[in-house]
Amino acid sequence: MDIRTLIKEEVLAQRAYGVENAAFPVKLDANENPLAMPEELRGRFSAMLSSIPLNRYPEPGSPALAARFAKAFGVGRDQVMIGSGSDELIQILCTAVARPGAEAMIPVPTFAMYRITSQNAGLTVAAVPLDGMFDLDLAAMRERIAAHPPALTFLAWPNNPTGNCFSRERVEAILREWPGIVVVDEAYFHFSGKTLLPEFNRHENLVILRTLSKVGFAAMRIGFLIGPPALVHELDKVRLPYNLNAMSQAAAGFYLDHEEAFLRQAEEIRGWRDELFAAMKTIPGVHPRPTDANFIFFGCDFDTDRVYGQLMERGILIKNFNAPGAMRNHMRVTVGTREENRLFIEALKDIIP
Ligand SMILES: *Cc1c(COP(=O)(O)O)cnc(C)c1O
Repeated sequence: MDIRTLIKEEVLAQRAYGVENAAFPVKLDANENPLAMPEELRGRFSAMLSSIPLNRYPEPGSPALAARFAKAFGVGRDQVMIGSGSDELIQILCTAVARPGAEAMIPVPTFAMYRITSQNAGLTVAAVPLDGMFDLDLAAMRERIAAHPPALTFLAWPNNPTGNCFSRERVEAILREWPGIVVVDEAYFHFSGKTLLPEFNRHENLVILRTLSKVGFAAMRIGFLIGPPALVHELDKVRLPYNLNAMSQAAAGFYLDHEEAFLRQAEEIRGWRDELFAAMKTIPGVHPRPTDANFIFFGCDFDTDRVYGQLMERGILIKNFNAPGAMRNHMRVTVGTREENRLFIEALKDIIP
């Protein structure tokens, strides 16, 4: 028997999402916080983990934690859902709205999981290219919704990999005009300082995503969805009962207890980002784009496939987006520590033709 005859077409058609998993001494590909947890917190963190009763199931739905974060976000407890990373929350959203013929609108290029998760859930994907400034092409998006209103629209704000926040007027026009759910993914909030949270109660279709992954807790998989109570109520039926393991729940609480320490790290990274940007600007043939995130997207006057490979040979991993069209010879580098950024800049200068 051919096992593939049992698999959905949408799944067969995909290539597995490749993440480079070799160990690189300078790892600047995944937009992680380059800093470990501050030394003075580690003892408390491990004591907390070791007191977790591993023989018991975790609290289903993390209610106490959701209440704490709701308070921190300034919204109601019934407006928050916690997931195993925002990736899981994207999957729950897609699963819940995937009625026959339902569509997800995705401005591209953007975060790859929107498309992958939508397709796996059985949603049709309407990929609408961004304009020449990597901002939303409202005219093209309006044309598409007139033909087929999307159940879900994904807006990463700031966008990954381009680093910019789409203009606020365009995002707000979408929120006003669109009949479906509009997901504003604020994964890089700690670096942009920009949020639609204060607008939250003015839009019935707005869903905001946040994560602790980019601010120091990538390994723990902790994400947040903030949405209207009626939606959160339905999504809760799709969520697996024990979606957030006990260690992640404890880690999320620990983050809140010690948030200033992690916000200080984010502030330090913003400083390094500005230094890295300035250094990249001085390299001929390298064109960094303004960024609101903890990474820099840049176009090059040379073949990035070759440069990407040569950086890897030197133990430096970044992300290469080279593809025909707007992404030709574009790469993305995560802001590392000062030392990592220096190694990257020196290697790049050395390699480029
Ligand atoms: C990194 C990233 C995420 C991933 O979040 P997790 O909480 O780690 O699942 C979500 N959205 C965007 C735009 C990202 O770049």
